[in-house]
Amino acid sequence: MPPANTSDKANTETAAMLARRERLLGPNTPIFYDNPVHLVRGEGVWVFDNSGNRYLDCYNNVPHVGHCHPEVVEAIASQTSTLNVHSRYLHDNILNYAEQLTATFDTSLQCVLLTCTGSEANDVAIRMARSATGNKGVIVTDHNYHGNTNEVMSLSTLLMHDLGQRTDSQTMPTPDSYHLLDGESTLQDMANRVLAGLDVAIDNLQRDGHGVAALLVCPIFANEGFPNLPDGFFTAVKKRINAAGGVIIADEVQSGFGRCGHAMWGHQHANFIPEIVTLGKPMGNGYPVAGVVCSADIMHQFRTHNNYFNTFGANPVACAAASATLNVVQRENLVENALQTGTHAQQQLAQLANRYPVIGDIRGSGLFFGGELIKATGQRDPDPVLGKTIINAMRNEGVLMGLIGRFDNLLKIRPPMPFSVDDASVLFETLEKVLRRVC
Ligand code: PMP
Repeated sequence: MPPANTSDKANTETAAMLARRERLLGPNTPIFYDNPVHLVRGEGVWVFDNSGNRYLDCYNNVPHVGHCHPEVVEAIASQTSTLNVHSRYLHDNILNYAEQLTATFDTSLQCVLLTCTGSEANDVAIRMARSATGNKGVIVTDHNYHGNTNEVMSLSTLLMHDLGQRTDSQTMPTPDSYHLLDGESTLQDMANRVLAGLDVAIDNLQRDGHGVAALLVCPIFANEGFPNLPDGFFTAVKKRINAAGGVIIADEVQSGFGRCGHAMWGHQHANFIPEIVTLGKPMGNGYPVAGVVCSADIMHQFRTHNNYFNTFGANPVACAAASATLNVVQRENLVENALQTGTHAQQQLAQLANRYPVIGDIRGSGLFFGGELIKATGQRDPDPVLGKTIINAMRNEGVLMGLIGRFDNLLKIRPPMPFSVDDASVLFETLEKVLRRVC
């Protein structure tokens, strides 16, 4: 049922709200779609606007187990009405959650520090890496976003900022399996070039006296456009970082909690074990909870030299929300669902690509996948304009999705984890309707 939010009254309300927003929040505050959506309610994989129209949510990974999942809502409400304090008192919730969470990791990753946002988690993870290695330098990809604190935002090459150029960081090339360079014919050729770029980054940090503290990287390169990688890619990366005296911080803010379908964590999916893992977004199904998981050695080194305290991090309500979310993931077999539904949905998208060659490549894993939109030149030329047209048209037809990747032309399909085969049918029937119209 497409939204009917196009009445004059609705348009006038939207215009007034946008003006109020700009007056109160300032200019350039990010907002989705040419015709922004005014959401008032959510349930499962659906969200509802102020006119009662419903939208299939194919975008949001924060309501991981579904919008307003009753079990998470109940856990938050019940703990809020009992006690909420900071973490300088004894409380079972943090300990129970730390045990529940670390049971899903390799035995080398056994200590937890909780924060409120993914940005804070990455910020403190970099401090931990520096404290553990004695080095200062940080490596990221050349198309990265890891958060909004001064430390991580100043590393970002994806979002605009005025924090200036850092001297203690270097970038490695972003793998792009769809746009191989001249002379490359396999994924391994691409990987060899990326690894050579990583070697240069390491050499530069060492030459300039920073050394290598960490590579901060998403194990599925989510914001970079989730490229296909050859087997053993991260083993080769880790070998280089460790040989330089550094550690890997796997930023699992996007890839964690079973999103990729094969495993609970993106690094397990990518077949390597990092020294530090950061978590966020889906962790509390919308309650702001995030954190760092690392070895006992790294945690001890950090805690011995730093009095880290986070007023809201690790509070009993946050831990109740996170624990309920993980319970639902495990009990409702949502990792398995991500694999099955995601595989089925990718096949459906591939069928659509056969009929619409503007969908040039399909990739991803589990319930994080998408298709690259290209021009009809036959040259894999990215078409971000078509991408924008499509996601705006999809919004008007009642399906929410986004764009990502190096060229902003990759349809990003990353719905709440209970997404079903029937939901996928709604998505692709709508996408076909839109493609028929705009192509
Ligand atoms: N890391 C990655 C990979 C992200 O995509 C984001 C947010 N999009 C963050 C960290 C920052 O998380 P937060 O917004 O919770 O601070």
